[in-house]
Amino acid sequence: MTADTMLKFVAMPQSYPEKRAAEARAEDFREIADRYAIVQAEEQAGRCSQCGVPYCTVHCPLHNHIPDWLRLTAEGRLREAYELSNATSTMPEICGRICPQDRLCEGNCVIEFTGHGAVTIGSVEKFITDTAWEEGWVEPLVPGPARRLSVGVIGAGPAGLSAAEYLRGYGYDVHVYDRHDRAGGLLTYGIPGFKLEKPVVMRRVDRLKAGGIVFHEGFAVGSDATLAELRARHDAILIATGVYKARAIDVPGSDAGGVVEALDFLTASNRKSFGDAVPAFDDGSLDASGKNVVVIGGGDTAMDCVRTAIRQGATSVRCLYRRDRANMPGSQREVTNAEEEGAEFVWLSAPHSFTSADEAGSVAAVRANRMRLGAADASGRRAPEVDPGGPVDMPADLVIKALGFDAEALPHLWDAPELGVTRWGTVLVDNKTLMTSLDGVFAAGDIVRGASLVVWAIRDGRDVAASMHKYLKAKAAASPAKEAA
Ligand SMILES: Cc1cc2nc3c(=O)[nH]c(=O)nc-3n(C[C@H](O)[C@H](O)[C@H](O)COP(=O)(O)OP(=O)(O)OC[C@H]3O[C@@H](n4cnc5c(N)ncnc54)[C@H](O)[C@@H]3O)c2cc1C
Ligand code: SF4
Repeated sequence: MTADTMLKFVAMPQSYPEKRAAEARAEDFREIADRYAIVQAEEQAGRCSQCGVPYCTVHCPLHNHIPDWLRLTAEGRLREAYELSNATSTMPEICGRICPQDRLCEGNCVIEFTGHGAVTIGSVEKFITDTAWEEGWVEPLVPGPARRLSVGVIGAGPAGLSAAEYLRGYGYDVHVYDRHDRAGGLLTYGIPGFKLEKPVVMRRVDRLKAGGIVFHEGFAVGSDATLAELRARHDAILIATGVYKARAIDVPGSDAGGVVEALDFLTASNRKSFGDAVPAFDDGSLDASGKNVVVIGGGDTAMDCVRTAIRQGATSVRCLYRRDRANMPGSQREVTNAEEEGAEFVWLSAPHSFTSADEAGSVAAVRANRMRLGAADASGRRAPEVDPGGPVDMPADLVIKALGFDAEALPHLWDAPELGVTRWGTVLVDNKTLMTSLDGVFAAGDIVRGASLVVWAIRDGRDVAASMHKYLKAKAAASPAKEAA
């Protein structure tokens, strides 16, 4: 390391890639900032102080070798930087785009604590891997020596795809089943293009297909096969199905026309970006154009709905959240982006009822209770309570419910009552092996953790693949005929 390439955090101010003007970006679904030019990437990487104990790495769920690839970037050794960053992650350019870095690597950067502003780790990570794709440095997926054992992965989200990649690398025949017609899980149909452009996801999927992983798209476990049938087909199974049961809002009028689920709204919008025909969008039901939109919720899903509605040309977009800004679960960065693009946040408010004015029962207004923060609950968070100040009304032609997701009832849906689940419906796994209550059936990602983050799903996919490999090696050793078959 040379003093003139690194430790430049005092002389070189923090600088993220410039965002496009809010009016321009509200017109399309492209990502809101371009990536760095090479000089900027090198300069920003050179701000790293090369700590002995890098807290960024500690707080990155993948334990990426961040200071090392920042140093290589600052030295102009981009290919090596890419190879190192790729060594611990199956999707570095995706994490660079959508990790909440302020809560993970960047939020724990030592120079952030000194008041100089964190190293822009995510933006450099995105730069390195996007450059690698363009330069042809991203290697094809090469399967290891064939083991003649097969694995079935249920769910093609980041957890399933990451596990599939590692398992193929170990030499297994890997089959991925997904009920959607495209792989990627929430990367494809949940997260909007302005955070993650779809070709970035699809090139990852295509690489896995080219590496011999067999995708069964449009295949729903539960209706196209039972879990028992898949177990009979494969030597091990991974459940990586995510969480999709939308939390309900139980207030009068919640069955009014125009009150829709967040994921239906976002999926329709993402499908339109692929050029698909989407009847519920094309007939206007899931299109915010020309409407007064109210989004209910304060997490990342709510932020994505707000910003999608703006891009679809909504007349007004309000977001109702029962706590205040400081106590919302969503990223502050995303709130700022949404405000810049024209969204109004109505903090400390919760729906009281939805009213309709026509015979068809279409929603016309949201009546919201004002809230205030009361005493802290068991978790230490101040619980919202109704403020006696009285409700407020706001016009609404489209209400989007974004209150979060729980696990679907898999044992029931898959005719597998012996599959152990928690009281929240998430799949129970042994903490060491990540195996469920069923021999040879493993689970990873949101279906184990509950709604979480892409980077955690990737980490789980990596861990579960290693555990499945161990299990399968032991299985093959116990019945050599199987391996030789
Ligand atoms: C709108 C939204 C925005 C988000 N934004 C961010 C963000 O900015 N940053 C971030 O880090 N995280 C974000 N997240 C969270 C992140 O997307 C998830 O934590 C992550 O995708 C979980 O990965 P997974 O592989 O466990 O599940 P998923 O990505 O949900 O994938 C599960 C897959 O399983 C398939 N499946 C389900 N049931 C079946 C079945 N019965 N048969 C066959 N296939 C089935 C589904 O079709 C899906 O493709 C967001 C989530 C949402 C909803
Ligand atoms: S994976 Fe996420 S947390 Fe880890 S270095 Fe990249 S952006 Fe930071």
